Amino acid sequence: MAQDLIIDMFPCLQDNYGFLIHNPATGSTATVDTPEAEKIAARCRARGWTLTHIWNTHHHWDHTGGNIPLLSEFDVDIIGPERDKKRIPGMTQGVEEGDRFYFGDHVVEVIETPGHTIGHIAFYIPSAGAAFVGDTIFVAGCGRLFEGSPEDMFGSLAKLVGLPDDTKLYCAHEYTLSNGYFAVTVEPENSDLADYMAKARKLREDGQPTVPTTVAQEKKINPFVRAVSAEELGKRRAAKDNF
Ligand code: ZN
Ligand code: FE
Repeated sequence: MAQDLIIDMFPCLQDNYGFLIHNPATGSTATVDTPEAEKIAARCRARGWTLTHIWNTHHHWDHTGGNIPLLSEFDVDIIGPERDKKRIPGMTQGVEEGDRFYFGDHVVEVIETPGHTIGHIAFYIPSAGAAFVGDTIFVAGCGRLFEGSPEDMFGSLAKLVGLPDDTKLYCAHEYTLSNGYFAVTVEPENSDLADYMAKARKLREDGQPTVPTTVAQEKKINPFVRAVSAEELGKRRAAKDNF
């Protein structure tokens, strides 16, 4: 029986989250993305962990900017989307849809989630009931369509909410309140959304994160997940861009 993974989440930059995943059985530690090298390194030192892996979700600087700086302190493998190998600094292993790799005894499944960027991927760890989703899904929101189409994002969100209902979704940014204020304009009658927003406001007032969310929760409150077509998603995304 594998030992449970330890997930350590902490704020980085303006509104990013950093994530360390530690495997006590092997001593391995992965960071999902590298928003802030110094913070990630300090967090490892404080915990007595040695960073062994970087898993990149996509090429944006707030997700890969710390890759090279971290290499000066740690000997790490950098796993990222094969499609974006030229855009991800220091990448050593490219992965694609359906690839699985081992993190000690724990299987990590790669899910391609294009939309925000073309090469975007998510890392799903069934044994932890956790998916690290980068800038694809946010609490009550989704990533901006910088490179992909509404069809891409529609398919990507469908894959993520196709995971078991209790799967924890670790989003890479704390965008919940601004997403929620938009979401209530789309679904003013959605009482689950209204109830959730009251909770989220309280959490933020107390300085607490709203991440992770769950698949079950997003099915109830997220206007992009709840869009019935790619066209509807696209309209909502465009409206949010101008909100
Ligand atoms: Zn991004
Ligand atoms: Fe980002």
